[in-house]
Amino acid sequence: MHSTLRFDVVVVGAGFAGLMCADRLSRLGYRVAIVEKAEATLAGTSSRNEGWLHAGTYHALSIPQRREAMAVAKRCRLGWEEIQRRFPECVEVEKGKAVAIVPESSLAESLSRWEEAQVGHTPLTPTQYEQLDGYVSIGRDEAAFSVDDTGINTRMLAASLLSELRTRGVRVFLGAEILGRADGLLRLHAHGETHALEHRFVVCAAGYSTERACAQLGLPPTPVRLWRSHLVTLPRVAPLSVFGVAAQQAAMINHGAWSIIGFNEDATVVDAPTFEVDPAVADRLEEAVRRRFPAADMKATRRTACVKVDYAPDANSARSLNVRMLPVTGDAVVVLPGKMTEAPFSANVVASHVFDMLGQGSVTGRPMDSYELVGQAAVR
Ligand SMILES: Cc1cc2nc3c(=O)[nH]c(=O)nc-3n(C[C@H](O)[C@H](O)[C@H](O)COP(=O)(O)OP(=O)(O)OC[C@H]3O[C@@H](n4cnc5c(N)ncnc54)[C@H](O)[C@@H]3O)c2cc1C
Repeated sequence: MHSTLRFDVVVVGAGFAGLMCADRLSRLGYRVAIVEKAEATLAGTSSRNEGWLHAGTYHALSIPQRREAMAVAKRCRLGWEEIQRRFPECVEVEKGKAVAIVPESSLAESLSRWEEAQVGHTPLTPTQYEQLDGYVSIGRDEAAFSVDDTGINTRMLAASLLSELRTRGVRVFLGAEILGRADGLLRLHAHGETHALEHRFVVCAAGYSTERACAQLGLPPTPVRLWRSHLVTLPRVAPLSVFGVAAQQAAMINHGAWSIIGFNEDATVVDAPTFEVDPAVADRLEEAVRRRFPAADMKATRRTACVKVDYAPDANSARSLNVRMLPVTGDAVVVLPGKMTEAPFSANVVASHVFDMLGQGSVTGRPMDSYELVGQAAVR
C-alpha cells in the first residue's frame, strides 16, 4: 500500500536530539514527522547513558579550554533548567542534590570557572560529610561541594515528550526503513506499507548512524568519528550522587535503588557502532568505583558500553563531543549530539535555522527577513 503525506519537516531519528527538534518545530506550527528505524523511540545512545542531568558543573571543569568549557556548561544549564521546569516528574531530585569532588591543586581555577558559568556550588557541610561516611572515600587532597546535578528518568522523559508531540499532531513512523529521497519526497517502508512524505526540510538526528542515514537521505557524507564509553550499574552505592571531575575518576548518579557509574575520559575510537564491552576498560572503571566507593557491592555490577559521535573532517581533528549543527544542504541539517542535556540547546539552534530557511507564512517578516544574508549567520 502506498500513501503520500504532507509535512513541513521530517526529523530522522527519535533519540533526544530528534525528539527535542520535533518539539521546537511543532511548537512553531510546522507539520512534523519523525522517522525512526527502530520499533521504539530512544533506541540508540539516549537509552544507554548515565541519566545525568548536567548542571554545567562537570563540563565547566573537565574541558581544558576555558572558553569552550564555559559554552558547554551554559548549554547544559539551559537544558537542565528546561527539563526540570517542563518535566519535573522525570527529575530524580535527591536531598542535598549531588556532590562534586575537585582536586585541591585546581581549586582556584575550578571555583573561578563555576562562578563564570554560574554553576551553583556550596562546600559540603559536616552533616553531609557524615552522611557519606563509609560509602565514599574523599582524599585529603580533594575538596567536596554540594552541586545542582541530578539524575533523570530518561525513559519517562521521552514518554512525556512523545505524548506532547502527539497532541501537536507530530506523526511518528517507527520501524521505518528509508528507501530514498528526491524532489521533496522521502520514501519509507514501515510495517508492510510504503509512504511518501512530502516535505520542505530534513533534520538528520541519527546519532551513531549518521553516515548511513545521510546516504539514505541523499545528503553529502558527514565525516563522523565514533567513541565508545563504558558504564556499570549496581545497587545504590551511596546516599547522594557523587562524581569526581578529574580524569580516571568514577562519576556516579543515583536512580532510585540503582547507581549508574561512568568513568571520566574513557572514550576510545571504534570503527563501527558497537555495544560490546571492552573487558580491560570495564576493569579500570570498576577499579575507579572501588577507590571512590569502598562499600559498593561489586559482585552485583552490570557492565554496558555505548558509543558517542563527533564531527571529524580529518584524521587529526581535535575531539569534541559537544553538540554541533551542520547545514549540509539548503534543505537539510545534520545534528550531532553532545550531551543529552544539550538537546534543548541544539533544538533551539535547529529551529532557528529551519525558521530562517522556511519562514512562517502566517507571520509578517521583520525588516531583515527580506534581506540576503551576507557572511556567517549569527553565532549564539
Ligand atoms: C556511555 C554514555 C553515557 C552518557 N551519559 C550521559 C549523561 O549521563 N547525560 C547526558 O546529558 N548525556 C550523556 N551521554 C550523551 C547522550 O547520551 C547522547 O548525546 C544523546 O543520547 C544522543 O542523542 P541522539 O538523539 O543524538 O542520538 P541517539 O539516542 O543515538 O538517537 C539516534 C536515533 O536515530 C535512529 N536512527 C539511526 N539511523 C537511522 C536511520 N537511518 N533511519 C531512521 N532512524 C535512524 C536510531 O535508532 C536512534 O533512535 C552519554 C553517552 C554515552 C555513550
